[in-house]
Amino acid sequence: MASSRTILIAGAGIGGLTAALALARLGYRVVVVEQAPALSDVGAGIQLSPNATRILQDLGVAERATAVVPEGLSIRHARTGAEIAYMPIGCAMEFRYGAPYWMVHRGDLQAALADAVSEQPDVVLRLGTKLEDLAVHAKGITASVRDARGVTDERVPALIGADGLWSTTRAQLGDETKPIFRNRTAWRAILPASEVPDEFRRPMTRLWLGHNAHLVHYPVRGGTLINIVAIVADRWNAPGWSAPGARDELLRHFSRERWAKDARTLVETPLTWAKWALFDRDDVSFPEQGPSTLIGDAAHPMLPFLAQGAAMAIEDAAVLAQCLASPSSDPEPAMRRYEAIRRARVRRVQQAALANSRTYHMSGPAALARNLAMQLMGGERLRARYDWIYDWRPG
Ligand SMILES: Cc1cc2nc3c(=O)[nH]c(=O)nc-3n(C[C@H](O)[C@H](O)[C@H](O)COP(=O)(O)OP(=O)(O)OC[C@H]3O[C@@H](n4cnc5c(N)ncnc54)[C@H](O)[C@@H]3O)c2cc1C
Repeated sequence: MASSRTILIAGAGIGGLTAALALARLGYRVVVVEQAPALSDVGAGIQLSPNATRILQDLGVAERATAVVPEGLSIRHARTGAEIAYMPIGCAMEFRYGAPYWMVHRGDLQAALADAVSEQPDVVLRLGTKLEDLAVHAKGITASVRDARGVTDERVPALIGADGLWSTTRAQLGDETKPIFRNRTAWRAILPASEVPDEFRRPMTRLWLGHNAHLVHYPVRGGTLINIVAIVADRWNAPGWSAPGARDELLRHFSRERWAKDARTLVETPLTWAKWALFDRDDVSFPEQGPSTLIGDAAHPMLPFLAQGAAMAIEDAAVLAQCLASPSSDPEPAMRRYEAIRRARVRRVQQAALANSRTYHMSGPAALARNLAMQLMGGERLRARYDWIYDWRPG
């Protein structure tokens, strides 16, 4: 059995790597197993709000990520192209919440976290190693992991499942329920900044609200790449993050009648698209089995309509580390404490993201009323509605 201060983390995604860093700082020995043979550049842009960036700053990750700080968010009418509301972000958010807002390539964020992890002698990252099976004992866990040499059993005092939407950890801990498909797919493309009009290279997030679809784009990687995500109504629901998407199929959602020329020009530019189906869960549930717990999407997948999926995984990691901070802390009660602390907040964010999925894709009179309400409210007040998300700090 590994030393009593060893924790096994399944998954080296955003949540798993943040947890590894936070726990190493507390003197834990951490073993992270990741099924992917390499941490590659898969994925596209992720937005990170101050509730998450303040944690990354504290962990020394900020200076490693090639994030872009947006000047603001411009919300636009898909058909006319007119601006409905403008929300200042850059200095305004940093001043109000004490930490920046970032637009970052997921691969860059993961690489920045992995770089920080590589400097921690007490963290071992085992790539190409998949968690397959689990047994919970009174005082520990036996995890069966598969790598190129075959399957081995690891006996550890505690386990964190950070293995994402289709979590093996969750299933092995006895919860076989599946995430819920929400009848939408997200299509993403990345373009060199030189291929888009000057206006779209500015450090801004643009959100176009259309009929049963919306479009978001912003620069990442120090402004050298433009991340484009189009979310459309769809019945395709295969798991995975990177299925090839047929360009013609996507363009059918961006007709001349419904979309302004600028938006269509942007969507027509990339020749290749990847897509993923959108899932969440109806609750925030933890299997509560011995010294094990879940963080991030494994615990509470959410729709991307509030851009909080990665942020919640980062918050989870920080709170879990706090609960495990006492040198004498028995991991099992510490993990139950973490779950109790997180449940209500994450549920509220999950529900707010689901509500936005309806609001963003409205049509007809409902869309008119929404646009009018946004205009009247204005960007500052639109942002202030989310103070409860952005102003959060770990306990
Ligand atoms: C390849 C990929 C691309 C993505 N692209 C985007 C994107 O473009 N935009 C966006 O908003 N979100 C994207 N996401 C999702 C986003 O990163 C997460 O919603 C969010 O960061 C929450 O992070 P997480 O740590 O809970 O899970 P994730 O970041 O999804 O990480 C989970 C990790 O666990 C690993 N894993 C899974 N099962 C096992 C197992 N049995 N054993 C060992 N390791 C395992 C996975 O390979 C992955 O590295 C992507 C996720 C992945 C995995």
